[in-house]
Amino acid sequence: MTFRLLLIPQLLGLSLGLLDRHRAKALTRSLAIWLCRISLQCLSRPYRLRTEPCIIFAPHQDDETLGCGGLIARKRNEGLPVHVIFITDGSASHTGHPGITAGEVGSIRRREALAALAILGVESCAIHFLDEADGTLKNLAAGRESALVARLAGLIAWIQPGEIFLPCSPDGSSEHDAAFGFVCAAVVQAGVQPDFWQYPVWSWWNPGLLIERMIFNQGYCVQPTEDFQPIKTRALARYQSQLEPIPPWSEPALPPGLVHSCNSGHEFFFRFIPPLPGADAAGTPVI
Ligand SMILES: [Zn+2]
Repeated sequence: MTFRLLLIPQLLGLSLGLLDRHRAKALTRSLAIWLCRISLQCLSRPYRLRTEPCIIFAPHQDDETLGCGGLIARKRNEGLPVHVIFITDGSASHTGHPGITAGEVGSIRRREALAALAILGVESCAIHFLDEADGTLKNLAAGRESALVARLAGLIAWIQPGEIFLPCSPDGSSEHDAAFGFVCAAVVQAGVQPDFWQYPVWSWWNPGLLIERMIFNQGYCVQPTEDFQPIKTRALARYQSQLEPIPPWSEPALPPGLVHSCNSGHEFFFRFIPPLPGADAAGTPVI
């Protein structure tokens, strides 16, 4: 029903000849994102800071700042321990680019991540790069998959987090979705029971996923980032390889609209309980 309502301006614009198909689609998406943001702001409860260590899982170098940059800055400002675990090397953001190799992209993104997290206040000893090849998570061989889960579980058991943050599943990215499953399995293997929060990244570009999440996940909260917005904006700016086109390409890896959605005053988190051993890997949404 919501989608049908959102199609009204698109159909109206098209029928009046005011918009081409591309602009009509962009307008519809902007309206949907705006509606999601307003709804989430109205329905969420405030995020309450916890003092135990937390882990931010990021499939790629930029997800942590896009989804949790304000939260990280706030926690670090309070002196609270924050670990960031990057699962892939981020090397696939410019696949097919004639002027830069996957290896170069991976190196650049690693440097950008260190610079961004330094601005957010994360200590270098709390930044972990697992360096799985970007783009392979959804098709990892069984042996490789269990090795990755074991590495994740080892870090989780060592850090003993009170909270875990990772991108939503589904989030409109097969890598994010695969990473979600691995982290769920690792939490179970580590034998810890932290609070489990999902943060949207590509969901902002696929508002249907946000609407779905609002309907099925009733436990969500909001973290106003006004106080830490300048820090988050500065940290995000370090991801130049993702924000700006690398010639001869004319489009950046991250759509500007997506960056704007992630960096506009609030961060939203959805509560989740990871599956019990032997349960469905998708887990159970909770209130
Ligand atoms: Zn990502």
